[in-house]
Amino acid sequence: MKKIEMVDLKGQYNHIKEQVNQSVLETIESTMFINGPKVKSFQDHLEKYLDVKHVIPCANGTDALQIALMGLGLKPGDEVITADFTFAATVEVISLLGLTPVLVDVDPKTFNIDLPAIEKVIGPKTKAIIPVHLFGQAADMEEILALANKYNLYVVEDNAQSIGANYTFSDGSKKKTGTLGHVGTTSFFPSKNLGAYGDGGAIFTNDDQLAHTIRGMVNHGMYIRYQHDVVGVNSRLDSVQAAILDIKLNYLDFYNESRKASALKYNQRLADHPNLITPFRKGDCDTHVYHQYTLKVIDGDRDGLVQHLNEKGIPCGVYYPIPLHLQKAYTIDHYNADDFKVTLEIVNQVISLPMHTELTDDQIDFITDTVKSFLG
Ligand SMILES: *Cc1c(COP(=O)(O)O)cnc(C)c1O
Repeated sequence: MKKIEMVDLKGQYNHIKEQVNQSVLETIESTMFINGPKVKSFQDHLEKYLDVKHVIPCANGTDALQIALMGLGLKPGDEVITADFTFAATVEVISLLGLTPVLVDVDPKTFNIDLPAIEKVIGPKTKAIIPVHLFGQAADMEEILALANKYNLYVVEDNAQSIGANYTFSDGSKKKTGTLGHVGTTSFFPSKNLGAYGDGGAIFTNDDQLAHTIRGMVNHGMYIRYQHDVVGVNSRLDSVQAAILDIKLNYLDFYNESRKASALKYNQRLADHPNLITPFRKGDCDTHVYHQYTLKVIDGDRDGLVQHLNEKGIPCGVYYPIPLHLQKAYTIDHYNADDFKVTLEIVNQVISLPMHTELTDDQIDFITDTVKSFLG
């Protein structure tokens, strides 16, 4: 059996090596390293793939979030609601801009932001909601958009973990996650579903004016060369990364299908275990792209399981071990533990098993057998 990786980037690269190398070489030969034709090509292809009017590439997923918030013109003191259970980047950018993060609990099944919890904290200073489509599954966007509409709030989708996932509206229509709110963001960090070979990110919007504002902001606030109308940043997608992503985008659906197939196999082998809850999928099979395959260990030794798997050569992860409201940087006195019951519980239950596009059946059998033999 091949060595088990949390994410098998080498195995994936081997299948597309010739094309990727060719595309990278072309970029180097062209010496158009900054905003070269590969960046434009990838941007156009991603707009088509997502069916969104504007994709603005940038340097990474954290920048994408920050610039999206800057583009909306939020001011210090404005409140932005997001989930207590997510990667820190989401809340980090809110604080960095002098905005006030308001963290709320998540749904125990989907791990996504909890709708009633959002409405409870909406107040006169609330300006935006950032739902994170966590682990590859869309948050309750229809309901979130309705809430945002009712209270006149912006919706910024953090789609770093869910690129390629669909969201199904109650009328049956579908849209790609990241394109439903006012603005969406993603990350091309190597281990993400569409990963570069370095850092990368992008911002999506259907709003022409916002797209224009953001395009200037990523480039030092310049709309006309050497004329700086707003305070911007320098955040570009590298041409070499764009050259790689432009090839990999062709495989994104295939990659996501492969993740789904592995998730299904995990489910089949683990579903009946009394100590395990397999990932809950809320919608159709195209609504979850399994960035992570995250189990909940119920009445069992989660930390012991992590250690046991590692000893057997099986990498695994705990995403995320600490609720954001308990992180030193984001602790606020008025947070009340009762408001984070779910997050406080699941941080001790979750375990993410290896999930990538190259998992083999014998690896999945070995992983699931090892999990079950430990839990008894
Ligand atoms: C990865 C990730 C980010 C940040 O992306 P980077 O490209 O690493 O800056 C933001 N939010 C979530 C939910 C992520 O998973």
